Amino acid sequence: MFRALVVEKDDEGKTHAGVKNISVDDLPDGDVLVDVDYSTVNYKDGLCLGSGGGLVRNYPHVPGIDFAGTVAESSDERYSVGDKVVLTGWRVGEVHWGGYAEKARVKADWLVPLPDGLTTRQAMAIGTAGLTAMLATVALEEHGLTPNKGKVLVTGAAGGVGSVATAILANKGYEVAAVTGRPETEPYLRGLGATEIVPREAIAETVKRPLESETWAGCIDAVGGDMLARVFGQMQYGASVAAVGLAGGPQLPATVLPFILRGVNLLGIDSVMQPFENRVKAWNALAEFLPKDKLDDMIVPATLEDLPQLGRDILKGQVKGRVVVDVR
Ligand code: NDP
Repeated sequence: MFRALVVEKDDEGKTHAGVKNISVDDLPDGDVLVDVDYSTVNYKDGLCLGSGGGLVRNYPHVPGIDFAGTVAESSDERYSVGDKVVLTGWRVGEVHWGGYAEKARVKADWLVPLPDGLTTRQAMAIGTAGLTAMLATVALEEHGLTPNKGKVLVTGAAGGVGSVATAILANKGYEVAAVTGRPETEPYLRGLGATEIVPREAIAETVKRPLESETWAGCIDAVGGDMLARVFGQMQYGASVAAVGLAGGPQLPATVLPFILRGVNLLGIDSVMQPFENRVKAWNALAEFLPKDKLDDMIVPATLEDLPQLGRDILKGQVKGRVVVDVR
């Protein structure tokens, strides 16, 4: 038997999350059994810890969209007992049981070997949020972003994706302007390398003028909604916005003018179904370009027992940085 955070649904359709003992036989089928060291809390985990948000199909359910640990059993030739591995995405923790347990059984295809230079704890300080921040950075650079082009805007900056994006960009020599609705996070964001703090109110209003002054050379946006629509009109000629999230809503009340008059690009970023090769490349880049001291500054340590509350907090935008859950 081992410990897991299990979400159950009662007869009235309400979900309840709590720590329980389960057995290896309870785990879903898969080629690799992993002893999980750490997991984390992403926005999606908040949904899966609560009502399910339309992501979870069956109960009882073990959430946790990310985990890192050590292979305990493997019937796949790519992995042997003792290998350190990371998993993010592939709808693990949503339709498949995830990382909020001391053991997880998954398909070998979903795993990535832990990159050299990272511990399993650091890998979970990065997690889906950090992987996504790196995928967004790579996409912007593939579309011509370089540090000499000007300031890069990061929205939802004190959240998971935003914190890692700020640290990566700053470490690569970019000037980072961080948008936050929490003024008290300014020292934290400056510590990660932001050189300008933009209050959320300054940029959250609906689009009044579709074209404003050309301010940003690039943008990593975790917020969507009115903020993303507004940002388009503030981009430099030919610049790109990497759309990552919807913390401020899924709508996009924009006009096409920034696209057709200034050649602005909207780049969609998905971390869940990324092919293996892209994942390995992004994890290696994270090991190289994310300063470990900044990563440590982002960590909020937690246990399985803390998860129900952390799930509620992240849905309210109240988690700063990256939660690392020690599941053991
Ligand atoms: P967090 O909750 O950690 O961060 C979101 C941040 O957005 C908050 O910390 C807050 O930052 C800001 N925010 C919250 N609510 C609002 C609002 N109403 N208006 C404006 N800003 C707001 O979540 P994550 O970083 O884990 O995820 C961010 C988003 O990215 C989510 O929507 C998530 O679903 C998505 N995502 C997408 C992925 C993909 O593959 N495309 C992968 C990972 C995440 P502050 O307090 O600084 O203002």
